[in-house]
Amino acid sequence: MQTTAPVRGLSCTACGESTALSARRCPDCGGVLAVNYDADAVASAADIHPFPPEASVSIDEGATPLVTVPDLAAELGVDSVAIKDEGRNPTGSLADRKFALAVAAAVQDGADRIGTPSTGNGAQSAAAYAARAGIESKGVVPTRCPFLNKAMVNVHGGDMYVVEGRYEDAVEAFGEGDEEFTPVAPGHPFRVAGATALALELLADREWVAPDAVVHPTGHGETVVGLQRGFALAVDAGLVDSVPRLYAAQPADCAPIAAAADDDATDPVAVDHPDTIVGPLEVPEPAAGAAAIDAVDASGGDGVTVPDKAILQAAVDGCEQGPEIGATGGVAVAGARELAEQDAFDADDEVVLVNPVAGSKEADLLRSHLMSQGM
Ligand SMILES: [Zn+2]
Repeated sequence: MQTTAPVRGLSCTACGESTALSARRCPDCGGVLAVNYDADAVASAADIHPFPPEASVSIDEGATPLVTVPDLAAELGVDSVAIKDEGRNPTGSLADRKFALAVAAAVQDGADRIGTPSTGNGAQSAAAYAARAGIESKGVVPTRCPFLNKAMVNVHGGDMYVVEGRYEDAVEAFGEGDEEFTPVAPGHPFRVAGATALALELLADREWVAPDAVVHPTGHGETVVGLQRGFALAVDAGLVDSVPRLYAAQPADCAPIAAAADDDATDPVAVDHPDTIVGPLEVPEPAAGAAAIDAVDASGGDGVTVPDKAILQAAVDGCEQGPEIGATGGVAVAGARELAEQDAFDADDEVVLVNPVAGSKEADLLRSHLMSQGM
């Protein structure tokens, strides 16, 4: 596999073992793998793109805005709040950063078809990037996956398999039958690397001054892992002085990572009966759960859980301040409110909330919330 100079290989987030770039889980312990960068060779966000230009697969993901929200900062009693709006990516979600890299890695491995189980946005993004790379794709999604995602998988030319039930049913179906594809499933090291790129870009947006806290709506956990590694890499590279406290925010009715982090446990607690309106985050057995908990701990952050009703209200309140925040992004706003309630923030804290999904993708959820409020 052809990579750029700062990439040294992969290493295991659990046991630390180094392994080949072609591995997808740690051969020793099954842990999540992440790209190892040579910090001495990293001077900007552009330097951590793992593949040379001729091997990259891009539809201009990234370069998303960091939007300040002064009224929310006043409400939370902090110095500033800004939303890193990942909904402005090509297919409207943060997943685009991940599939840009995971699909490029698959192409370099000779793949002509990739596949992933997904709650929805990942399958849509995978189909778009596979189309760009000129290869085939398959997305395996649960019935509850939004119509918009299902439609766009097909529109991008991908194969779509809709599995009766919820996300775990899609994961189970993904592992059966049809073996003629290269998996780009949650926990893939180059999906994690997409989130590392987000961390570096966020720091560059702030002219290399780290925020004090970052709140991220969390599903599979891989983004939390990638963010923490990106922040730590920036410190190692001498680009910033400190890492932000990373808060993994999850819906209370499906919080395997946040609840475990909040209880100081080291492993996620699988959720038997997940039931949240926030479909993209309804991941009861997260592929990168233990690694995400480690990442939260290493940053000095924590988990935070919030009920669906507070999530929807937070999304609507966020939209009333301008930025389009859907239910998924509402988890960050509601999580920040809960953290403020718990006195987790200082008055001089600079806080960044990640909005992983375009608000307009989740318009139906917000509108039905308004209607339930009699509006
Ligand atoms: Zn390992």
